[in-house]
Amino acid sequence: MAGKLIIGNWKMNTRAQSAQSLLDALLADSECNQSWVGVAAPSVYLAMLAQRLQGASLQLAAQDVSGFANDGAYTGDVSAAMLRDVGCTYVLVGHSERRQYFAESNPLLLAKMNNALAAGVVPVLCVGETLEQREQGDYLQVIYQQLSILVDIDAGDYLIAYEPVWAIGTGKVATLEQIAEIHSAIKTWCLQNAKPSANIRVLYGGSVKAENAESILKTDNVDGALVGGASLDAGSFRMICQAAG
Ligand code: PGA
Repeated sequence: MAGKLIIGNWKMNTRAQSAQSLLDALLADSECNQSWVGVAAPSVYLAMLAQRLQGASLQLAAQDVSGFANDGAYTGDVSAAMLRDVGCTYVLVGHSERRQYFAESNPLLLAKMNNALAAGVVPVLCVGETLEQREQGDYLQVIYQQLSILVDIDAGDYLIAYEPVWAIGTGKVATLEQIAEIHSAIKTWCLQNAKPSANIRVLYGGSVKAENAESILKTDNVDGALVGGASLDAGSFRMICQAAG
């Protein structure tokens, strides 16, 4: 399945040792050590992992980026320029866990997107509805509202990840019909409202596993996957990459 992109999101997991072992396992595996595969590691380990990635095809990603300036008095933040400096290709922006636990809102997420783009790091804007929003039937409006920041981005190469909140870490996967509906709606919305530099690519995330990866990746308008839990196991992640390859 040429052209698919797989990004593993390690979230707040691993220690230096286990992060290195996991990366080494991926690097030793030709299914995973590909330019269309990336891993979003905890920020404290990015520089260490980047050393190991020298000369490899596998890409490095960050899980978050500052919405403030590239340098200055923003204690605890990591800037887009720093992420670029250590060799990140991608950065997740607005993951539902950041929206939920850190109250990240559209203006901040727009700043993060712009900072990443200005620094040359490709942002992956994560969108998705909660179970309550889906049951109320207004899930498309929720997603359009999250996408609305793209109207203010003039140019640049970004990605979108559709991750229904109710499918993240729960083992509940959206049906292929649900995935196809939302991915198509996102692309239509972007064509009508955003100024994408090229074609818009939409990844699916939410309980992607070795067993369901192939059918999800074959679904219309699915351009790849954002993989949480299963990316922490080299064997599972390899099978997901294999399904995309
Ligand atoms: P999950 O997480 O694969 O464990 O559901 C996906 C994500 O949060 O990116």
